[in-house]
Amino acid sequence: MRSMLSLSTVARIVAAAVIALGAVVADAAEPGTGAESQSAADDRLAQLRAEVLQDVDDRRDFIQRMVDSQFSFGELGFQEFETQRYLTGILEREGFEIELGTAGMPSGWLARWGSGRPVIALGSDVDGIPKSSQVPGVAYRQPQIEGAPSHGEGHNSGQAVNIAAALAVKEIMEREGIPGTLLIWPGIAEEQLGGKAYFVRAGVFDDVDIVLYSHVSSAMTTAWGDSRGNGMVSVEYTFAGESAHGAGDPWNGRSALDAVELMNIGWNFRREHLRIQQRSHYVISDGGDQPNVVPSTASVWYFFRESDYDNIMRMWRIGDAMAEGAAKMTDTTVTSRVLGAAWPQHHNRVIAETMFTHIQRVGMPDWSEDDQRFARAVQKMLGVEEQGLLTRAQEDLDGAERIPDNERRGGGSDDIGDISWVVPTATLRFPSNIPGGPGHNWNKSIAMATPIAHKGATAGAKVQALTLLDFVLRPELVQQAQAYFENQTQDRQYTTFLRPQDEPAIWLNRDIMERFKPQLEELYYDETRYDTYLEQLGIEYPQFEPQD
Ligand SMILES: [Zn+2]
Repeated sequence: MRSMLSLSTVARIVAAAVIALGAVVADAAEPGTGAESQSAADDRLAQLRAEVLQDVDDRRDFIQRMVDSQFSFGELGFQEFETQRYLTGILEREGFEIELGTAGMPSGWLARWGSGRPVIALGSDVDGIPKSSQVPGVAYRQPQIEGAPSHGEGHNSGQAVNIAAALAVKEIMEREGIPGTLLIWPGIAEEQLGGKAYFVRAGVFDDVDIVLYSHVSSAMTTAWGDSRGNGMVSVEYTFAGESAHGAGDPWNGRSALDAVELMNIGWNFRREHLRIQQRSHYVISDGGDQPNVVPSTASVWYFFRESDYDNIMRMWRIGDAMAEGAAKMTDTTVTSRVLGAAWPQHHNRVIAETMFTHIQRVGMPDWSEDDQRFARAVQKMLGVEEQGLLTRAQEDLDGAERIPDNERRGGGSDDIGDISWVVPTATLRFPSNIPGGPGHNWNKSIAMATPIAHKGATAGAKVQALTLLDFVLRPELVQQAQAYFENQTQDRQYTTFLRPQDEPAIWLNRDIMERFKPQLEELYYDETRYDTYLEQLGIEYPQFEPQD
């Protein structure tokens, strides 16, 4: 999908290098020998890094407000409208040009600042997890709103990392007249793997040189090469039959729900004879209306996960065959639509190595004794190892060009995979959450509006800012990342899972958000009145027992 770096692009990048480093060095020293000007450039870079670190540190409260606000919105995939309004508002005030409704997704957006190359795109997911509502900052189970969505993965923190980093570097670019374009973009509906393939299809990354992605974690890590997780395609099968009275004349009916159940039975038998790398799961998204009406329509929504494109396509064809078989057995008809897709990830070695040096430079946040006591109390409640918060950043950089198939055991997916095959990309995992306990669960909401999340996002923003600064100031790094990418894509090229007729599943979660929005609105963080969201909620952090 992406053409090789053209000669004119290389020429532009080299020209930008000369301008960028020239401007930087001119400030630092008189022209001298090569070695002198190199060491002057090194000194200047060190000075700018120190400045960026200080700048991000000074934005701690700004980061805390972004993390807390997005937490309080608790929005699900494709319905991230408060988040869109809030973040694009901040970026517009900072001089970014805003586009709304990107790639046919009303909650999508892009924010662009600057001009010329390199074009560096910073992304992070923004959507939440259903039924993960939980009061933050307390070490016991207590939903904020029973059954409501929340940030049970921690996607309320990644944009704060990227925005604080971008603003710190932008300040230097403006002052020093350094060319480059910053693009900030959201992962829409990442929990449905629903957005990024459409961003790629819409050409969002066509002129982008480097993608820096950030994702919440309990550790501070990055990696390059193949990821050990799976790619996937998300397909909803809808069966159509005929309704009839469930007791009066059931013989006149053809049950679409029967087809769904037979397809699922078929899949569950077949599962034993699929490769161990696969993961597959489903929910019945339409099971009919009431028992005495033979369901005329029914739908089942499958995730088919496998380690590579060919095996994902194979599973998808098995799913299609199973659906057709179930339709034949029940005299119904079946159609399908793609609700999401994710390529297996492959991260760029040059970007990851650059990021890793900064992970080591920044290290883990300075956790307080309260943070550690709180983390251990949450772990105790969950019945997992009471190890507290991690105190050491990643010590060795992981990477593998190709993980042998027999060493792969499958796992989750992230649609950053699609982007990693069209632009050199790496992911920063930053430490805003507590280790242990199940994922996609209310327990992951607990820390996400506490000092743990704020400190983790601030540390992450420092790493992201230093990495961004390197790619802005050192065009040879951009070239090296591009060279790695060309090698990566020499014999494995991206083909989207999306069919021409597939469109973003923007109706998903609409009903849920409509139902909960009035209650959520009452709990939105008012940053004009409260220093923190915990203060607004009246939580004395860390809180170990319910208070009367
Ligand atoms: Zn995620």
